[in-house]
Amino acid sequence: MSDEVMQLSQLWTGSHYNEGIGRDDIFDKLREECGVFGAFNIPDASSLGYYGLHALQHRGEESSGMCTVDSRNGGSFNYYRGMGLVKEVFNQERLDGLPGDRVIGHVRYSTAGESKLGNAQPLIFKYRDGDLAVATNGNIVNAPSIREELEQQGSIFQTTSDTEVIAHLIARSSKDFVSAAKDALQRLIGGFAFLIMTNGKLLVASDAHGLRPLVMGKLGEGYVFASETCALETCGAVYERDVQPGELIILDSDGIRFDRFEKLERRATCAMEYIYFARPDSDINGINLHSARKRMGQKLALESFVDADVVTGVPDSSISAAIGYAEQTGIPYELGLIKNKYTGRTFIQPSQELREKGVKMKLSAVRKVVEGKRVVMIDDSIVRGTTSLRIVNLLREAGATEVHVRITSPPFMNPCYYGIDTPDRKELIASQKTVEEIRQAINADSITFLSHEGFIEAVGGNDGEFNRGMCMACFDNDYPTPVDPTSEKSCSC
Ligand code: SF4
Repeated sequence: MSDEVMQLSQLWTGSHYNEGIGRDDIFDKLREECGVFGAFNIPDASSLGYYGLHALQHRGEESSGMCTVDSRNGGSFNYYRGMGLVKEVFNQERLDGLPGDRVIGHVRYSTAGESKLGNAQPLIFKYRDGDLAVATNGNIVNAPSIREELEQQGSIFQTTSDTEVIAHLIARSSKDFVSAAKDALQRLIGGFAFLIMTNGKLLVASDAHGLRPLVMGKLGEGYVFASETCALETCGAVYERDVQPGELIILDSDGIRFDRFEKLERRATCAMEYIYFARPDSDINGINLHSARKRMGQKLALESFVDADVVTGVPDSSISAAIGYAEQTGIPYELGLIKNKYTGRTFIQPSQELREKGVKMKLSAVRKVVEGKRVVMIDDSIVRGTTSLRIVNLLREAGATEVHVRITSPPFMNPCYYGIDTPDRKELIASQKTVEEIRQAINADSITFLSHEGFIEAVGGNDGEFNRGMCMACFDNDYPTPVDPTSEKSCSC
């Protein structure tokens, strides 16, 4: 093992490693990669972490993990990671094995080839000053080149996760821990939210553009950090503010300090968080997502009204927008599509035939609602187009006479390099086909996308106002950082 960094042996010994395919392999949807949660100076921090991670489960179902530090017991480290949902990985016995008043936790998605425990987070390392745990959400665009450089200098990586580069950068530095972390963060290009914990400190950092959401709350005498405000609500913490782009927050026995590793530039929060990823009860940069999605539906109605009998939304993420579309047009909103919430993971191989069955297992059209009706179907995005085709066909098979598809985002044409698992550009239907060709491909009577301007107005403005700045690169190809189109674009986490 390297002199600088040595991964600790894993405590995980369970046998419930789920080999099944993930939630959205049948649904051709974009996948959020990870969620992070941290708490400082909270008694029984692991129990709080359990509830916090549970609230973030939609951000990652592949693996779950927590690391605690007991500051009253010399800063001892305890950790546990496993494959599966938070409720599958943790039980009371395992939480009892995680004593401490500080915690960082993680839920993760992964692409199929990376589905292994070694990449589950938090990643745990031992280095010359003690123990180090890292949990992140996002992607480091230049991680491959940093990794290559470090390997040439003798570092030995223990995982395939790019997150490990920050641990090596910190461990190789001769500076004190905080200065080393600042230097390391400065070297990273991409979209990331980091929680880094040692025996004595907790560091919280957001990338220079705030691409991935990260919020701070207060609970009693302690602090809570999470990818989304819904986790603060679940824990009973009071929202304080969003962690700022380029900000580094340091918590230790001296209290909390606010520093920066990058100067404040343009904020570029991921637009897809507003459209699809984050929970509707969460707020990002002060904007409630249910309300923003309703406004997207209203804008869409103003831009592309169609005479119809019912409006329905593809559950769950498009229901808010469907309500907005219905309110704006006066066409009644109905539950024309129902999601079966109890399917969980699908342990079948996704052959074409089984994919079709899988869609029906997860989503049903309500015949009594749509039969003989002209239906407006609201969805948040179209990736490859295969899911849209299946859902349109579900509605037609249930008797819909017309299906008009309305999408609450501009056409998704470019891959993401900041932690969202997107297919290659050539697989993105909007980059390959005209709107009319997409309509034909998904068997719809009509299709329209929300305009770029309409989307920005619906969210609340992006006109240079720092707090509302968004990355919209998957729609307009304007990436807020340099990207290497030939590099890995899936997540680091
Ligand atoms: S490219 Fe798209 S998915 Fe990626 S961060 Fe930007 S808006 Fe989000």
